[in-house]
Amino acid sequence: MVVEWTTPYSLRPDGTTGGLGPGGDHSDVSEVLDILLGRPAWMADALCREHPEVSWFPEEGESVKPAAAVCERCAVREECAAYGAGEQYGVWAGTSARERRRARSAGRRAS
Ligand code: SF4
Repeated sequence: MVVEWTTPYSLRPDGTTGGLGPGGDHSDVSEVLDILLGRPAWMADALCREHPEVSWFPEEGESVKPAAAVCERCAVREECAAYGAGEQYGVWAGTSARERRRARSAGRRAS
């Protein structure tokens, strides 16, 4: 098993990022990380785990639509939205980092 270590952004439900670079076989690693890092149980049902071909950390200017299309069909989208609301990077529950940043700002202004 080959594990590529990259900058840990966050603990993602798909298990292919959040410290592990894309492109490798992370199926065994993902299970170990679930245990070691206390990954929430709902992440086991995350549809993004089945879509490593999708960019879950889009570059500046890259569309989030492919990721959002997967999220629309995901059974744990609600849990993901709550968990990922404060995340600074990546697509969570179909939202981009910018969309979540704006939502947080709007929430602060409203309170
Ligand atoms: S809503 Fe999207 S990012 Fe969240 S767990 Fe489901 S597929 Fe993954």
